[in-house]
Amino acid sequence: MGLTGGIGAGKSTVSKLLAERGAAIVDADQIARDLQAPGSPVLDQMAERFGAHIINDDGSLDRGAVASIVFSDKAALKDLNGIVHPAMHTEIQSQIDAHLGTDRLVVLDFPLLGENPRKGLAATIVVDIPYDLAVVRAVDRGMDEADVRNRIDSQISRDKRLESATHVVDNSGGLDDLNRQVAELWPQLMELDQYAPPSAL
Ligand code: ADP
Repeated sequence: MGLTGGIGAGKSTVSKLLAERGAAIVDADQIARDLQAPGSPVLDQMAERFGAHIINDDGSLDRGAVASIVFSDKAALKDLNGIVHPAMHTEIQSQIDAHLGTDRLVVLDFPLLGENPRKGLAATIVVDIPYDLAVVRAVDRGMDEADVRNRIDSQISRDKRLESATHVVDNSGGLDDLNRQVAELWPQLMELDQYAPPSAL
């Protein structure tokens, strides 16, 4: 199943609560970071396309440098996606396939699931909170306020994201309330039909 939410909504927190109950988490952000680790083929291709200056002295990716290139250049963004997406797709699929034939619940923790819907999901959980609360929580976590607002504004709207939901977690309350909602959700998720690979649809 899919798990998504805007920045600061509490997606990572819900993901942890699901993992504690036994779900396997396929974490798109983590996969992207791993694929762009120092010395990786993906990072090499990115440096070839955008220049060696996108790599820090320690060999790591300078995310800000890449972000500023692709922010205003659609062709550059397309090239970046062309380098990163196939590798991500392969890794995501192999992490999903590792659980095929088991009764393990596999959760695709995808921040951009609303923008990039995926076929074959047994459910889509959207973690939802009001805009202002998302900003407060993301800033509390250490992000810059203007940056958070920019990022939220560049993602699909809260309403649009909610349209894709089969299950909504309302994270406008405290952590106890969130925990209670996940506890209620869990048995419902366990009863869902099995994942149908897109090829079988
Ligand atoms: P996301 O992954 O959606 O960006 P996080 O799960 O990292 O959001 O949550 C953003 C911040 O808000 C984190 O610091 C997290 O600990 C905190 N947080 C999440 N849910 C709650 C809650 N119900 N009450 C208080 N703080 C919360």
